[in-house]
Amino acid sequence: MISVDLHLHTCHSHDCATPVERVIGGARRANLDCVAITDHNTIEGALQLRASGELRVIVGEEIGTSEGELIGLFLIEPVPKGLSPLETIARIKEQGGLVCIPHPFGRKRVSANLELGAWRDGRFVPSRDVVRANRILNEDVLSRVDLIEAVNSRTFFRNSWTAASRLAEACGLSVTAGSDAHTVREIGRSRVEMPDFTDAESFLKAIADARPFGVRSSLLIHFASMYARVVRDKC
Ligand SMILES: [Zn+2]
Repeated sequence: MISVDLHLHTCHSHDCATPVERVIGGARRANLDCVAITDHNTIEGALQLRASGELRVIVGEEIGTSEGELIGLFLIEPVPKGLSPLETIARIKEQGGLVCIPHPFGRKRVSANLELGAWRDGRFVPSRDVVRANRILNEDVLSRVDLIEAVNSRTFFRNSWTAASRLAEACGLSVTAGSDAHTVREIGRSRVEMPDFTDAESFLKAIADARPFGVRSSLLIHFASMYARVVRDKC
C-alpha cells in the first residue's frame, strides 16, 4: 500500500505561499509516497514539482467552473476556469484524466443523515437538499465524475465527511482524501492508503480499495490563506 495526499496547493495558487520545492520536505516528513498537486486553475506547480524528480506527483488542477469546483487528476494540459461543469469534465476526460468533486459539502453545516436522493432509470438523482448544498452536485455531473472527495482537512464540520462518503457510496463512486494543504505543515493531514498504480486507469481501480484518513485543520489555518493572498511573491 502507498500513502497519497490527493489535494494540495503550492504558491501557484492565489491563496497559497508554499514554494514548490518546500512541498518535497513536507511530503517526506508526512511519509507520503505520492502527492496530487491541485492548484487553483493551473498545473504549473505540479509540472515543476514532477520535473524536479524529487517526489512522485500526480498532475492535478482544482478548476473553478461556472457552478463550483472540480478537480482534474492525471492532466496533461490545464483546463481553463469558468467553463460549465460538463464542458470542464469533457476537457479532463478527453486528455485521459479523472474527475473528482472536491469537498462536496464544503463548509456547509449538513446533517450526516442528509437525504441524498435515489436511482432512477439507471442514474442517481440527487435530492433537492444535496443540490441546494452545492449546485455542482446535480444529476448530469454525478453521472459523469469518477471520484468524490470524502475527507478534506479544511472542511469545518465532520458531518460533511460523513455526508460526502454516503453520497459517494450512493452514487457507486470511490472516495478520495486530501489535506487541501495551503501551508507546508498541513501536508499529509488527510491521505489515502491505497494499492500502487501506474496511470489513471490503474489508479481508478486501486482507489476502490483505498482507506481514507484525515484530521481536520484548525479553523485558524484559513487565516494563513488570507495572509498568503497578501504576502505571496511570484513563484
Ligand atoms: Zn483546494
